[in-house]
Amino acid sequence: MRVLKGAEVSAKIKEEVQAALAKCKGAAPKLAIIRVGENPDDMSYERGATKKMEAFGLRVESYHFPADISDGEFKEEFQKINGDADVTGILMLRPLPKQICEKDIERMIDPKKDLDGISPENIAKVFAGDSSGFAPCTAEAVMEVLRANEIPVEGKRVTVVGRSMVVGKPLAMLMLKANGTVTMCHTRTRDLKGACQNAEILVAAAGKAKMLNGDYVGQDAVVLDVGINVDEDGKLCGDVDFGSLEGKAAAATPVPGGVGAVTTAVLAKHLVQAAQRR
Ligand code: NAP
Repeated sequence: MRVLKGAEVSAKIKEEVQAALAKCKGAAPKLAIIRVGENPDDMSYERGATKKMEAFGLRVESYHFPADISDGEFKEEFQKINGDADVTGILMLRPLPKQICEKDIERMIDPKKDLDGISPENIAKVFAGDSSGFAPCTAEAVMEVLRANEIPVEGKRVTVVGRSMVVGKPLAMLMLKANGTVTMCHTRTRDLKGACQNAEILVAAAGKAKMLNGDYVGQDAVVLDVGINVDEDGKLCGDVDFGSLEGKAAAATPVPGGVGAVTTAVLAKHLVQAAQRR
């Protein structure tokens, strides 16, 4: 079984980003990371994203706000960052605390700075197959893993487990645009195993530790694991039991070291695209 390593995909994206960056005039594009509260997952993602931007030669500035900031106060601060001409792109860590209306922020964010595709305009573009906007970075990271490894999607049976707006739904649209034949699964799917076994490309994005094993995978399928979970021993793991894929899958992404490692590289790519589109 071929192991599809995120670091190799990220290195290829880095080359593309740096070639594009060389053509950009003026200061390097700047990413604003907005974090409310001290959620350890957010802080870990922020560290990873900051490291990646710096490694790619991009600027990054973090904006931190207390978990109990009011809706009005946060919106005021958000609008300052959103309107700052020195900020090329924004990553807002979510979910936001309950007192802040996230829907309002999705509508407020400048679509041209919305690198993680949360604004209605960018979502609509993903669903319309229009690549002039920004798709959510994780969904696009899955497509980048396939592209970098020269695994075509056209005509293939693709099954996506999970239908969130962050991963499953936009990813299904990107797969459709790439001419895959897409099946989407969720908690009400009656024959999950059958739908998974039927896939030539299987994407797991359910957020359930090792819920899929080799029995769910068709012979020689490509398996992409988006899940980031903690197993019973407190170790990071995906939605797929990676060890059970040997002899079944043709190729698969590990967790950690798979799709997650590509997500921040896509964020960097979007940042440079935002600068180019200005
Ligand atoms: P989410 O919002 O909780 O959505 C999970 C989806 O999976 C839902 O649509 C749910 O179905 C479905 N699901 C859950 N259990 C299922 C089951 N037993 N059988 C079939 N479908 C099931 O999660 P998310 O934000 O999309 O994230 C999914 C995973 O990806 C998480 O582990 C998350 O940590 C990870 N993630 C990784 C990255 C990265 O950079 N690699 C980025 C974002 C998220 P219903 O709609 O019916 O409830």
